[in-house]
Amino acid sequence: MSRPARCTAKVVIVGAGFAGLAAAASLCENGFKHVRILEAMGRVGGRVHTIRPFGSDIIELGANWIHGQAGNPLFELGQKHGLLSECSSASTKMCLPGSVTPSDYFFREGGRLLREEDVEPVCALFSRLTSRAFDSELEDKHRCLSLGGYLDDAFAESPLAATADGQKVFEWCKRCECTDEASSSLYEVSASEIGHYVALDGGFFNSLGPGGYQAFIDILLNKLPPGLVMTNTPVAKIEWALHEEDQGNELTHPVRVVCEDGQNFEADHVMVTLSLGVLKQRAEMMFHPPLPDVKMTAIKRLDIGIVDKIYLRFPERFWPEDCAGIQLVWDEGPEDVAVYSSQLEGEAWKETWFKKICGFDTVARHPNVLCGWITGREALHMEKMQDDEVGEVCVRLLRSFTGWSVPEVSEVLVSRWGCDPYVRGSYTFVPQGALAEKEHGALAAPLPPEPRSANKKPLQVLFAGEATHVNFYTTTHGAYLTGIREAQRLIDLYAQNCLE
Ligand SMILES: Cc1cc2nc3c(=O)[nH]c(=O)nc-3n(C[C@H](O)[C@H](O)[C@H](O)COP(=O)(O)OP(=O)(O)OC[C@H]3O[C@@H](n4cnc5c(N)ncnc54)[C@H](O)[C@@H]3O)c2cc1C
Repeated sequence: MSRPARCTAKVVIVGAGFAGLAAAASLCENGFKHVRILEAMGRVGGRVHTIRPFGSDIIELGANWIHGQAGNPLFELGQKHGLLSECSSASTKMCLPGSVTPSDYFFREGGRLLREEDVEPVCALFSRLTSRAFDSELEDKHRCLSLGGYLDDAFAESPLAATADGQKVFEWCKRCECTDEASSSLYEVSASEIGHYVALDGGFFNSLGPGGYQAFIDILLNKLPPGLVMTNTPVAKIEWALHEEDQGNELTHPVRVVCEDGQNFEADHVMVTLSLGVLKQRAEMMFHPPLPDVKMTAIKRLDIGIVDKIYLRFPERFWPEDCAGIQLVWDEGPEDVAVYSSQLEGEAWKETWFKKICGFDTVARHPNVLCGWITGREALHMEKMQDDEVGEVCVRLLRSFTGWSVPEVSEVLVSRWGCDPYVRGSYTFVPQGALAEKEHGALAAPLPPEPRSANKKPLQVLFAGEATHVNFYTTTHGAYLTGIREAQRLIDLYAQNCLE
């Protein structure tokens, strides 16, 4: 059977997050006429979820920021379409330990407000130490350690470690860094492999315009013909290599995508953009024939952690106007190596799940709203609680740490990325023992594997999504670029027959 031309080739994309939408837009722009996206949820965007629960202004339940500006396609898209606001106001902050502004209020347990001079040097040192890991400048003795192990070791050499407040603020920094790494603990994250992540120049850009991230998704959607995206259509099974099983009968397509509702779609190519969490749970059952061992190994070795947000809306602002965030510095927290090690077994940590909340940040455009951050297994535990119950715990924490008069919360909104059956986690990290380049590469490799042979149709199953990018995993622009990358594979494949 001869290969179809570009305009007749059928491409099914599984998932309408940034990766799937970017791929579809690129294919349509390049003359592909039979592209379809199957999306399980009732909405597009995936881990981008912009909502308006508190009036007309947006809240981001998923991605918030654009990571880096120079060379970031989403920053460029935002600039081109006017989707960015002026840079941060005092009430908008970045949740990076090294970028803490003087207007963050750090409280020790029991209500003591820490002075800026006790906090800032520790945060600055923490930022320098993590940069060393990101810049692949670790000493040999640290290369085999976890990120947490390396940071403990390097911090111990500083005089700041000898002060009680210094040590505790350092533990807070580690907890906050778990938000960036989406890990339960920094003792799970590889110190050396993190050097593969490339931070683009320009830092976090945290002032998206009033349309938030949804406005970026809409730009991509507007590039697609109507009806191309089918929402509420979860895919159950992906059959590939069908023509190899065929005994002489002329099968038209090598791929069949079967949906949970019984619909099925034949295709020349399927592009899978499922999150690593969904792949971990479903890949073994979903693919027929099964995925090669090397890909299953990558799915098992890479990890995806949970980052959740807790939005608290109060009847009025109770924090000072110059306060950009209320940070909680525990006497003994889950990021402390002794506490972490003692809690590996058993369920005692569930009693103190709230100790994993870093703090509560003010929220742009919402003067009465705070946003708490929580990660890891504690986040998953919280997801199973009622919103009201979570809100009560947070108000208790705010009262006991600040000593301020904190009113009852009027509304609580909690994200649940870990329990979401179509996401199962927030973003990818490289755990100790995994090799970033190898695993991300194996995850990204299309099927059937090279070398091509005459009876194997090329690029039957392609893989995109943030976890498949070795340098920009975890990010929206990483996801976007993987969609473009996989679309380009198909564009190149059909380059010779594109005279139509
Ligand atoms: C709380 C949070 C905060 C974040 N903050 C930032 C940030 O500030 N900046 C940043 O750059 N990134 C951030 N991220 C990460 C960023 O959102 C993701 O990296 C990116 O959106 C992933 O896009 P994707 O297309 O790879 O995957 P997804 O967005 O997960 O898209 C995959 C799609 O596949 C669909 N799907 C799943 N199963 C099926 C099925 N069986 N059949 C059909 N469809 C299916 C899903 O519903 C989903 O729509 C954050 C993420 C979270 C959760």
